Amino acid sequence: MTFLSPDLNSFSQTVQQLWELMNPCTLCPRKCKVYRSKGELGFCSIACLPVVSSVGPHFGEESVLVGTGGSGTIFFAGCNLGCVFCQNYDISHLRHGHKVTIEKLAQSMLELQDYGCCNINFVTPTHVIPAIVAAIELARKEGMSLPTVYNTGGYDLVETLKLLQGYIDIYMPDMKYFDSKVAQKLSAAPDYPQINSAAVKEMHRQVGDLRIEKGLATRGLLVRNLVLPENLAGSFEIIDFLTEQISPKTTINIMDQYRPCYKASSYPQINRRPTFEEIRCVRRYAVEKGLAVLN
Ligand code: SF4
Repeated sequence: MTFLSPDLNSFSQTVQQLWELMNPCTLCPRKCKVYRSKGELGFCSIACLPVVSSVGPHFGEESVLVGTGGSGTIFFAGCNLGCVFCQNYDISHLRHGHKVTIEKLAQSMLELQDYGCCNINFVTPTHVIPAIVAAIELARKEGMSLPTVYNTGGYDLVETLKLLQGYIDIYMPDMKYFDSKVAQKLSAAPDYPQINSAAVKEMHRQVGDLRIEKGLATRGLLVRNLVLPENLAGSFEIIDFLTEQISPKTTINIMDQYRPCYKASSYPQINRRPTFEEIRCVRRYAVEKGLAVLN
């Protein structure tokens, strides 16, 4: 069988360790144990090099990530979660995009910086983080100095996250659920609550609370919670967790844009938008608890 790995000799030991974690793959909590450098595919259905669906400035992210030049987003195809309501299912599940080399990925970062973007925002990076870290090394050697954003569904292993210290400036994890049965039903990940809360702890350990300078995030943790109907997203419990176990100053974006997509129509509880009242109650609770709630 042909090996598809690039030559990693000129990269750091961290990159080489991350690459080893893909062969057999235990990079994320799925631990599929496939040999991705041989082209074998696990749950995320991506081999060792990333598939990129789009690159460009994005103005729809949180205002602290956008500024005047936009957030320099790189969308990765494939995902280690199986959300039945995925709003990007053409990218996550159908994997629309083009395979890229480490060099091309580094070049994209430099182009986003030249364009005037205020950060490099890796969207759905968990399953392709070895190539991302290698590309960050290359891009930094060539003068890339923007903050990096790890924009993740939050199903990340602590052991892998530890290797990202120094490479990631802003962690932006989803906290999707606090109930294992809901996580199993809606994302095929019954251990999501434990995995996710441990991951958020590690992220906060590395970068601390979100720091904002001149209106722009420079470093820290920014948590996202997409409000689902009937509190299926465990929003209140997640707010308690953040306040009590992460930091009372945690920055959170309580997202109100849920709408039924992909297979959501087969699940009656999520086959509607959350009501205005459901969203307002979550926001009010987070404010009462003292969290930094983004608008
Ligand atoms: S990164 Fe992909 S192949 Fe590796 S363990 Fe996770 S889902 Fe499986």
